[in-house]
This record gives sequence, C-alpha cells and structure tokens, in this order.
Amino acid sequence: MPPIAETRSFDTSIKMSDLAVAVLVGGLGTRLRPVVADRPKGLAEIRGRPFLAYLLDQLAAAGLRHAVLCTGYLGEKIYDTFGGSYRSLQLSYSREQEPVGTAGALRLALPYLQSDPVLVMNGDSYCAADLKSFFQWHCDRGAMASLLLTRVRQSERYGSVKLDSDGAVLEFREKKQGVVSDLINVGVYLLSQAVLASLPQQKKVSLEYDVFRQWIGRGLCGYQTDGAFLDIGTPEDFLRADQFFSSIKRKFVVLDRDGTIIEECSYLSDPEHIKLIPGATQALRELREMGFGLVVITNQSGVGRGFFDEGRLREIHERMRQMLEAEGVWLDGLYFCPHKPDDGCSCRKPGVSLMEKASTELSFDPQASIVIGDKGSDIEMGRRVRATTFLVRTGYGAQVATNSSVGADYIVNDLRAAVQTIRRLSAIERSEVHGD
Ligand SMILES: [Zn+2]
Repeated sequence: MPPIAETRSFDTSIKMSDLAVAVLVGGLGTRLRPVVADRPKGLAEIRGRPFLAYLLDQLAAAGLRHAVLCTGYLGEKIYDTFGGSYRSLQLSYSREQEPVGTAGALRLALPYLQSDPVLVMNGDSYCAADLKSFFQWHCDRGAMASLLLTRVRQSERYGSVKLDSDGAVLEFREKKQGVVSDLINVGVYLLSQAVLASLPQQKKVSLEYDVFRQWIGRGLCGYQTDGAFLDIGTPEDFLRADQFFSSIKRKFVVLDRDGTIIEECSYLSDPEHIKLIPGATQALRELREMGFGLVVITNQSGVGRGFFDEGRLREIHERMRQMLEAEGVWLDGLYFCPHKPDDGCSCRKPGVSLMEKASTELSFDPQASIVIGDKGSDIEMGRRVRATTFLVRTGYGAQVATNSSVGADYIVNDLRAAVQTIRRLSAIERSEVHGD
C-alpha cells in the first residue's frame, strides 16, 4: 500500500465496481424485539423479503461486486439466509463475538477492505440516494471521509451535521446531543484507508462518537442528497417500511433477447454462437448507471418445437450473462417462454404473464417501465401493460418498422440510440419534478 498522506492525494483510477463495501449488521436490535424477536434486525421481513435484501439490491444496482457483512448477534441466521452471493454481489462475513461498536466491527473486517476508499453502510437504515453520485462527489472533493446526508423533518431523532458552503463538516452531533441542522447522517460513508488506519484500538468504539469528530477540519465532508430515508430501529418505523419501499420503486427496462441484445440467429442452440450486437453492452451499462433495473423477456419456442431442451437454453443464458458481466453489465432477471405459438400459453409475448411475474418478483411498476424489442410482439406486450415502447431496427426491426400499425412510441436504430432517447426523457422528467 502507498504511504498515507494527511492531505488527500487520490488514486482517481478507482471505479465504483472496485469498491469494497462493509455492511454493519451486528446491532442487537433491542428496540425492535417486540416485532422481530427471533432474528437480527437485518432479517426483519418487509414485503416478504429481509430488510438486508433491499440494501444489497441497492449495492448491486450501483454495480458493486463484493460486500462484507459484519455480523454479530444471531449472525449465523444472516449467513443461512444469504450464503456466499446475492445477485451480482459476492458476500463475505466478518463476525464479532461480542458487541464492539460500529468502528470495532469495521476494524474486525479490515482484512476484507482493501480498496481506497471503502463504502460503509449501517445495516438498519436505508437511504434512497444514488451511491454512484456520492462516490463521484467524494473522489472529486478529495475527501478523507464523506458522510451521506439527507433532510428529514424530525432531525432530533438522528445525528445531525452542519456543513460549510464547500461541504466540509463543521459540526457533528449524535442523536440526543441537540440539533445543528435539518441534515442528518444516514449511516452511509466513504472512508479512506487513512481513516480506517486511525480506528481506535480499544475494545468498543463507535464511528459516530469516537471517530468522525477526530476528522473534522481534516477532510471530513458531507454530501447532501434528497433521498428518502428509513431507519428500521424502532417498531413504529418498522411498520412504515412497507409503504416506504413501495414508494421508492426502481424503474426497469424490459429487453427482448434476439435481435435486440444479441444477433438474431434462427433458433440459436449453441452457447458458442452468441454474438452481442455492437454497442449493446455499452448501452446496457449506461442504463444501469442511470439507475434502471434490467430484465430480459424472451420467446424461445425452439424448446417447444424440440430443437433444444431447457437445459441447453439455460447454458445459453449462462453464457450470455457471462459475456455481459465481463463488460460490467448485470441483469436483474431473465424470463423465457418455452412454448410453441399454438400452445395457447399466456407467457409467450405479446402475452403479459412473464412481464407480470418479473414485475412482481423484482418489485417494479410495469406501467412505468420501458420495453425494447425488434418485433411487433415486444411492442404489443409493452402496449398491453402501458409501458413506454421502443422498436429497434436491429434483428427483425428494420422490416417491422415499415409496418405503420406497429404502434411503438419510438423507433430507433439500435439499443444505443434507444438509450440516448431514454437519457433525454429522464432529463425532461427530472426538470419537471424539480422545476429547473
Ligand atoms: Zn409460454
């Protein structure tokens, strides 16, 4: 490791995907006992899923690859639930044998935390902020440590923070120490290795009480967002969680496979024959960076026709995922219909049952989604759920585009062009919301 300077000289080459992440899930959850007695707070169920899954979704959506779960009380239950991976994230575990505080838990996990900076998240709260923008700001600012901040009405319940006009922290108050502003610390931090190296050695130490104050005036900064915030620490807040997560749903792009992401190839049956359409991975990566979830829905009647079996189809999809992941693109889901057109199933596009399944499992609103494909059946499926539809001219699209009855909202050359339009539409939507 290079020598650590007191003023920050940054390795600007670090990418978001290289960041090590520590999620602090070792809290005892004493106040939550009345509603979840038998498990650690992170496993409290919200809309049928453990709370921690929402945090991991946020990390996966930001393109991160590796997270360390710093567990404690009933930590084995967390391991039993998540195991070694979750979506695109590899998971490691660092377990405290007795309560050592937030900084103590982090100190135990240091062997796993080699990147500079490291992202640290409290495992009992959630802030719907864009982690990528936070990371970018931290790097541009050259901060030693950055706190993610948002505004809430009752800031006395949380730690509040006062900043100068440049984002440097002037004052840091923990809860019950009095309020200095309506900006609160949401428990998400980017910490440089210098800060990690300074963690006090005594047994029980807290980031909030023992560490951050030491760095005021020495590169401790605060990044302001307007992300909605939820702390599940108390039964009242926990009861609010259901409504909270339904109100911050991610938007999704629903993609066709053949002729849209990979080259159209009649009844593709060999993983070695997959060819990505030029520019497709770049386009998908940009969608992820814009915060969209990605899901593929594909008609594969070659299975029903007996040209290949589902095992082979899964091999093809595994190979396609590998090719995309090698380019930094992760799919949130992939759904296929194996039936023949005359089987009368409801899952073959333009049938909407796979769309409904995906939106339920991945928790998105079909009407707010974007459907992209090269065939009339893609567009028709999108129209049936009132999504925004894009016909691409790749695959069969050039031919389909000559039919004036196709009814796509947009007809574009390829996935790349679709993303340019989506970017423009998102910018318009943002300016309508914020009035700028
Ligand atoms: Zn089907």
